[in-house]
Amino acid sequence: MQNLYNHSDFSIHNIPFGIVVINGQTYVSTRLGDEVFTLEDLQGKGLFDHLTLPNGIFRSNFLNDFISLGKKITSEVRLSIQRYFKQNNPDSVSHYPAGEVTMSLPVRIGDYTDFYSSREHATNVGIMFRDPANALLPNWLHLPVGYHGRSSSIVVSGTDIKRPKGQTLPVDADKPVFGPSKQIDFELEMAFIVGKENALGETIPVDKAEDYIFGLTLFNDWSARDIQKWEYVPLGPFLAKNFASTMSPWVVTLEALEPFRVESPKQEPEVLPYLQCNGKYNYDIQLDVIISTAENKDTLVSHSNFKYMYWSMIQQLAHHTVNGCNMRIGDVLASGTISGPTPDSYGSMLEIAWKGTKPVTMSDGTTRSFIADGDTVTLKGYAEKGDIRVGFGECTATLLPSE
Ligand code: MN
Repeated sequence: MQNLYNHSDFSIHNIPFGIVVINGQTYVSTRLGDEVFTLEDLQGKGLFDHLTLPNGIFRSNFLNDFISLGKKITSEVRLSIQRYFKQNNPDSVSHYPAGEVTMSLPVRIGDYTDFYSSREHATNVGIMFRDPANALLPNWLHLPVGYHGRSSSIVVSGTDIKRPKGQTLPVDADKPVFGPSKQIDFELEMAFIVGKENALGETIPVDKAEDYIFGLTLFNDWSARDIQKWEYVPLGPFLAKNFASTMSPWVVTLEALEPFRVESPKQEPEVLPYLQCNGKYNYDIQLDVIISTAENKDTLVSHSNFKYMYWSMIQQLAHHTVNGCNMRIGDVLASGTISGPTPDSYGSMLEIAWKGTKPVTMSDGTTRSFIADGDTVTLKGYAEKGDIRVGFGECTATLLPSE
């Protein structure tokens, strides 16, 4: 019996894909427990001999070409790896300790869209910034609200983030000032990676949308709340959002998440026919947010769950393409901040510290309403059912001072 790492995020049930850098060369790779394997080494063991694969497909800077092979092939690659490790000791193939290798951004991201699909988050923000009696805007229950973000500043976990500067309007002032943002926040999100393309002018029907989703990562959509508040009217987020987003390095496939399907929250009023779907199209994925202060003390500031999402990924994709907008392989569609129903499950400091009115005491005794210079924010995500565990590892980044 092999050690199948059942208690690890990267158990035999997971077999995610990522890009590892070894001696300056990038490889498509997977992870079992704390060991990283290149698919080229696994190919050398004959694992994929029954498949016709292009030469050099596993030596790549990104997963895009691999994903382009289609789900039939990529699923079979994943299953072949799973079968191999069930029968063979991991030491039979070259491997690299996960803590000692560098992972790079898993996909070349063409376009990035950020949704706003947690009812609790949208309600909280509506209460704080607009009107408690009408927290949700009239469109919110009828369509998954989203905006087009910027892909160039999406970075892999472990990349430091610099506090941005910008325009803000101080309280009671009538003119803006320029300087470092004073309200840097995290947003606890998950992102999915498009794995199949639709042509311009074609839509992706909601009941086919799963075919177009390759897998998921953790996603911290860093936000500058003071810049956001001043700039966002009328066209939505801009410089408050595009200075950085952090993505976890391992893409967990939809297949690996299959055991954790759950139903979405009930949608009332009934949505339009092109958004209707009955069944389990959401996933029970536990999410943690940890802030580590410069003193290296950890504080768990949120424990949420992907299952709280009001709008599912397939509804987001159906809505995004209902006008004929074309998706491309490697596009990233993020969930929006994932807040749960209770304050300990809110997905941003804006909500946890309620606009600065309820500062959070950290384990080193200091308090936070937003993120301080030197703080490290880590998202974790994992699904568990019986003996099966599938996780995402970490999505982590340290906030550096503005220069
Ligand atoms: Mn966001």
